[in-house]
Amino acid sequence: MIPYGKQSISQQDIDAVIDVLKSDWLTQGPKVPAFEQAIAQYCKVKFASATNSATSALHIACLALGLGEGDTVWTSPISFVASANCALYCGATIDFVDIDLATGNMSVVELEKKLIIADQSNCLPKVVIPVHLAGQSCDMQSIHKLALEYNFKIIEDASHAIGAKYLNKPVGCCQFSDITVFSFHPVKIITSAEGGMAVTNNQEIAKRLRRLRSHGIISDPAEMTEQSHGPWYYQQIELGFNYRMTELHAALGLSQLNRLDSFVKTRNIIAKQFDKFFTEQNMQSLLVTEDCYSSYHLYILRLEFSNQALQAMMIKQLRAQGIQAHLHYIPIFLQPFYKQLGFDKSAFPNAMKYYSKVVTIPLHPTLTAQEISTVKNTVKSLYQQLSSANKSTPSQ
Ligand SMILES: *Cc1c(COP(=O)(O)O)cnc(C)c1O
Repeated sequence: MIPYGKQSISQQDIDAVIDVLKSDWLTQGPKVPAFEQAIAQYCKVKFASATNSATSALHIACLALGLGEGDTVWTSPISFVASANCALYCGATIDFVDIDLATGNMSVVELEKKLIIADQSNCLPKVVIPVHLAGQSCDMQSIHKLALEYNFKIIEDASHAIGAKYLNKPVGCCQFSDITVFSFHPVKIITSAEGGMAVTNNQEIAKRLRRLRSHGIISDPAEMTEQSHGPWYYQQIELGFNYRMTELHAALGLSQLNRLDSFVKTRNIIAKQFDKFFTEQNMQSLLVTEDCYSSYHLYILRLEFSNQALQAMMIKQLRAQGIQAHLHYIPIFLQPFYKQLGFDKSAFPNAMKYYSKVVTIPLHPTLTAQEISTVKNTVKSLYQQLSSANKSTPSQ
């Protein structure tokens, strides 16, 4: 089976992890701060806090912005559930903003419409979480303008987008946001096995992120509420978690970072090949706009199926032929847990339309030329078969 995404681990990566195992620190040593510094430098951002996952990073990012009960978060419905769950962890309310069909990202037009209505009924969001789907930045400049006008904070869920650029700057520079979150899960662009990072230019937010990822504990005497009892002394000043990254994970992440640019370049080369081939077959992929350099975490085709059974058949048959096609994502509001919160799919027509059209096909830097050609030809011929089946069977 050709997987839709896959990590690439080198001997250097392996050696980096082994070195940590032979060292004095398995956790809370020098590798985590080294990884944080390297990411901050890469993203041209001031502060970076490593966590054990992007999910944890999203959770403490929400808390660091003061999110709590009575507050509201808006995110994209076309994302992994973690983009929405983080709000609920904080006791806040979650809602969704419909997407732009061409890019799959949060629609700025829909966001503005929803803000105008929310403003009238006094229920504006405290935090908006745009998700950079498949590795392409959202229209952050416009979202940021709305943030100034309607007074909300922004967390970029850039789980797909490390190594991507927006307006020629690295995603993660936080020019148009308060915090950006990355994921280092193995299917993402670079991996630390499990792991995440929250980056920001705000020192107070950075401090809060540090504290929240480690039980709410501080050890700097200057910040303590009373005089130190002695050299063993620390204070817990709020309720935090153990969301720390280990040295093993940081060493792997740091080593992978050396190849980030080459991974993204290879992904772009393959994506361009796919674009050319599939366009000739009248098959579209997600639009990547001029102001973006995508990291191409995913390659998502937008196809015309007369009914969703054909889309399911395409994915099933691709898998039967050794290609792990996938679908990113099931609109979050369709999840049973979210349905029970009372979401109505008719409020998000673009997300529903998107869900009936898309198919993710394999894209990762370890694909061989042979595999690329197998993917192209298999996808093409299956789609042709299904399109003609489409014409001969009346749609339901
Ligand atoms: C993968 C992913 C996450 C969660 O990342 P983990 O590191 O697995 O917790 C969050 N948001 C999006 C959009 C993702 O794709």
